[in-house]
Amino acid sequence: MLTSTLPELIKPIKLARQGLILKGVFPLSGMKRLTADAFSKEGSVEVDIVFTKDGEGYPLMQGTVTTCVQLQCQRCLEGVGVDLELTLSLAFVQKESRVEQVPSIYEAVLLDSEEISLIELLEDELILALPIMAYHSDCEAYRYRTDKELESEKMAEQKPENPFDVLKQLKGKIK
Ligand SMILES: [Zn+2]
Repeated sequence: MLTSTLPELIKPIKLARQGLILKGVFPLSGMKRLTADAFSKEGSVEVDIVFTKDGEGYPLMQGTVTTCVQLQCQRCLEGVGVDLELTLSLAFVQKESRVEQVPSIYEAVLLDSEEISLIELLEDELILALPIMAYHSDCEAYRYRTDKELESEKMAEQKPENPFDVLKQLKGKIK
């Protein structure tokens, strides 16, 4: 089954049983948390995902989510497009005790109801992939930076040790 209209709410376990393929586009402006600090809210999020079950019966959502977010370049303060291309492999569970049992090749998503917001689920994934700081790789202002400043920027860019811990906290907030 293939649908090109992206639903707002999805029932992942039912969709995994049906083997639904979803391809479509969300406006970036619909992702308010993702674009809160963005330079511009223009753009779209391309979604190409499939719901399926693995051999152990885990309901899965797999595929790619692609967008380009306009952030503010921390060197020249102009907009800079940051490409995000995520390959997702999510496994849905309905009990918190089962989160730990999910094979590590998947990212566990705890459902607190049958239905969840697809846009919020994807937005959480994109937020995790956002760089802490953005700048043009060939920025005009680059040449005026000292080595020390560049070094401290590099340190600030480093991602948290375990992004999945952050993810679990975010997932818990999805209603
Ligand atoms: Zn710049």
